[in-house]
This record gives sequence, structure tokens and C-alpha cells, in this order.
Amino acid sequence: MAKDDMVDADLPSRDAAKEFYAKYEPKEALGRGISSIVRRCIEKETGEEFAVKIIDISGEKSDIYEADLTKKDTIREINILRMCKGHDNIIELHDSFETPTFIFLVFELCKQGELFDYLTQVVTLSEKRTRIIMKQLIEAVEFIHSKNIVHRDLKPENILLDDNLNVKVSDFGFATVLSPDEELTELCGTPGYLAPEVLAVSMYDNVPGYRMEVDMWACGVIMYTLLCGAPPFWHRKQMQMLRMIMQANYAFGSPEWDDVSQTAKDLISNLLIVNPKERLSAKQALASPFFKRELKPTKQFFAKRTFKASVICVRFFHRLKFFYYNPPPIPVETIKLNPYGVKNFRKLIDGCTFKMYGHWVKKGDNQNRAALFEHVQREDWRNQISFDNS
Ligand code: ADP
Ligand code: MG
Repeated sequence: MAKDDMVDADLPSRDAAKEFYAKYEPKEALGRGISSIVRRCIEKETGEEFAVKIIDISGEKSDIYEADLTKKDTIREINILRMCKGHDNIIELHDSFETPTFIFLVFELCKQGELFDYLTQVVTLSEKRTRIIMKQLIEAVEFIHSKNIVHRDLKPENILLDDNLNVKVSDFGFATVLSPDEELTELCGTPGYLAPEVLAVSMYDNVPGYRMEVDMWACGVIMYTLLCGAPPFWHRKQMQMLRMIMQANYAFGSPEWDDVSQTAKDLISNLLIVNPKERLSAKQALASPFFKRELKPTKQFFAKRTFKASVICVRFFHRLKFFYYNPPPIPVETIKLNPYGVKNFRKLIDGCTFKMYGHWVKKGDNQNRAALFEHVQREDWRNQISFDNS
């Protein structure tokens, strides 16, 4: 197929969307959903790039009832996007068009794509990068919640990154506005990120519905995944996975979590709490020590003392640098016993695994990045590995 045909495949005809084509030139696909496709597009007048989400409401690919539902949901999505306008970490809706067969939502373009793909590339994030991303994400959630909106589908696929890797929360397809005492009962979201109260209300009678706290649970799942590369709740059998979620049955396993700070683990633990009333709110999470940098102001300035302290500091960092660049050798025995327990080896092993199988960590099917971490140390294999000690 010629390149231009590929660009045009799946596009609404020019007649069906004259208004859109008059202003924009559609380009290649960036992502696909059940009844939508997202493409890069160019605004003709300014030459600026955007992303357009084209939603099919014709009923050709689904039945009329479903198409009508999609249309209603999209109108709700547009209203919510407008309510959320103006926050740096929420995707901006630039323009929208409606025809009898398609709805076009024109968004700012996030060139770095999904946090999901970024994580697959790098396997895990440093605490520093996680702090930046989580702060921006939770700030966006705080803003959304202040408008009584609950997102309900926070996950790395719906967190986009701009040129400077800044977070842009997107996909408000499941978002809804809550009235003061309203409790939701609908089962929606993505399995690994669902909060226990969402599962409970869909499984049992006489249990309360859920509210905004579900987004904070998802933030806990995301933060855990960013820091260790694998999600906290995953099992090949979905029922088992749901059971793990209902009991908040997860662990900070060794060696992956050995080098992660206690403040990071505490924040995750305070988000992954089964009782939504005890779970941290966005505001409380932002005040957690993980986001704090303690800079204590000095009361008085003593020139001599400050000079001495500076000299000690410089010497200390000089030594530290020496050890950093010349780390003590790791005994071969330690490596032989458990190479995965040694941080640098672990990074190498995980990096190679994701290079080979990263493409397979896809969305929408039963594969999950967690499967790439499902390794057990096998006695028979370990004994076969021979190391050259020379
Ligand atoms: P769906 O409801 O089908 O999940 P999304 O709004 O999440 O639709 O978009 C689907 C995918 O399209 C995203 O996961 C992302 O890969 C891509 N995408 C969406 N919006 C943008 C954007 N503004 N910039 C770049 N890519 C985007
Ligand atoms: Mg999505």
C-alpha cells in the first residue's frame, strides 16, 4: 500500500467533514481506540501541529444504540475537557467539530507520546524522575477533583508527555462530574488500576458506591509501576488479580525495592489503602515527605564557620566522587549467587529483556509488563553458569 493510502485509510470522507478539512490536514495515526482513531494533524492557517481524535458515531462499525451512546459520552468528554481547561498538566482541547457521522476533537500534540511507551523504553524510572512525574500527575488530579470531576481511567497509556517530558493527563472518556453525595456504581476503568471499592460495588449488594478516591488508588498503582517497572497487582488468572486488589496484597520485594527511599514506599502505602476514607487525598499526597525538599534556613551567618564547613563539604564530595567512579569491586561469589541482586546487573538484565520483548508488552490483551519480571532463580540453571575468574 502506498504511504498516502495508509494515511488516508480509516479517514472520514471529505464530504462528511468539510469543516474539519477546511482547517486541518490529517497525517499519520498516533493511537487507536474501539471507535476512535487519533492522528497528527496540521492547522492550515498557522502550520501548527495538533492531534485529532476522530470518533465514529455513524453506527457503521457498531449498532445504532452503541453509536448513540458513544456520541453522548463524547459530548460529556468535551464538556469535562472544557471544565478542566487551563491546567498545565491536563491535555488542552484546541477545537472540536461535530458532523452526523463523526466527532473531531483537536488536542495539543504530545510528541513524546504515552508514559506507557516511555516506561517500556527505560524499564524503570529514577526516584527523581518519578517525583517530577507523580507531582505533576497528582497536581492535575487535585485540580480535577476540585471541580468535582473523577477521571476513572488513570494509567500510563492515558498520561501523555510533551517535548520536555511534562505530564498531560488525557482521555477523559470515563470521567464524570460528581454531585455532593453521589456515589458511583458503574464498573469502568482498566483492571490493574481499579480500586477495591469499584470491584466491591460490582460484586456485592449493600456496599457503598465509590467517589474520587479511586483516582488516588490509580496514582498509587502508577507510582509503584514507575519505580520498579512491574505493577503491584498482577496474576495470570484475572480472578486472582482481583483478589489481590481487594486485599491490597502487594509487596515491596527485594532486590527491586532495596534502593528505593522509605518516603517513596510510604507514599505508595498510603495510596494503596483499601478503605477509601483512609486513603490520601491529592492534597494530602502532595504534602507527603516524598515531595518535600527540606531546606532549613540558617539563622545567623558566621563567615569563618561557613568557610570551614564549605571546605569539609568539598573534601567529602571529592571522596564521594572517587568512590562513585571507582566503586569497590563486587565479589564474583555475590554475582554467581544472584546476579539479579546486583543493581547494575539487574539494570542490564531488565534492559536486555525489555529490548527483546518490549514490543510484546502491549495494551488491550492479556500481556502485561509484569510477565517480564516473572523470573525465578532455578538451581539447575544457576549451577550451569560458569564464570571466568581470570
Ligand atoms: P481512547 O479513548 O481510545 O483510549 P485516547 O484519548 O486515550 O483514546 O487516545 C488513544 C491514544 O492516542 C493515546 O493512548 C495516545 O497514544 C494517542 N494520543 C491521544 N491524544 C494524543 C495527543 N494529544 N498527542 C499525542 N498522542 C495522542
Ligand atoms: Mg486511552
